[in-house]
Amino acid sequence: MGTLKYCSNCGAKNESRFLEGRKRYVCPACGTVHYENPRPAVTVIVVEDGNIVLVKRAVEPAKGKWCLPGGFMEMQESAEQAAHRELEEETGLTARDLAFLGLCPYPGGILGDLLVLGFMTENIEGRLTPGDDASEAQFFPLEKLPRIVFRCHREIVRMYKDLARPEVEVNA
Ligand SMILES: [Zn+2]
Repeated sequence: MGTLKYCSNCGAKNESRFLEGRKRYVCPACGTVHYENPRPAVTVIVVEDGNIVLVKRAVEPAKGKWCLPGGFMEMQESAEQAAHRELEEETGLTARDLAFLGLCPYPGGILGDLLVLGFMTENIEGRLTPGDDASEAQFFPLEKLPRIVFRCHREIVRMYKDLARPEVEVNA
């Protein structure tokens, strides 16, 4: 993410000041503080018969690499709506339900600081068809996944595996 060089309110050159506990871009002309926050992104694990869907990215960053379907939340959209939309755009699949899996903070990435929200579904309709930012979409056995390019996607897959693992009987 580029630095906030100019004020979004008046166009003057911002200054970097220590304010409210951290370094922020502040406009010396109009006083506007340019707060920066992580961007929420969503990702979905689609499960069918022990397989999950991965998509191959058609665009940079990480073009040609496998990852979970997902993307950025749009304005006026809930996280669930974003997850449904991104899933449909990239895989052609509609999730009949979505369960929240967990969060993965991702600071300092090429797209800035992100907060990735992981969802899962075992209840889908439609035919797997790559679209939008995906050049391929494919089911892979959970235990034989190709390398997933994004750390948070790997982490969210791990969250799902932890959840899906059959409970181990503890015998006294
Ligand atoms: Zn200003």
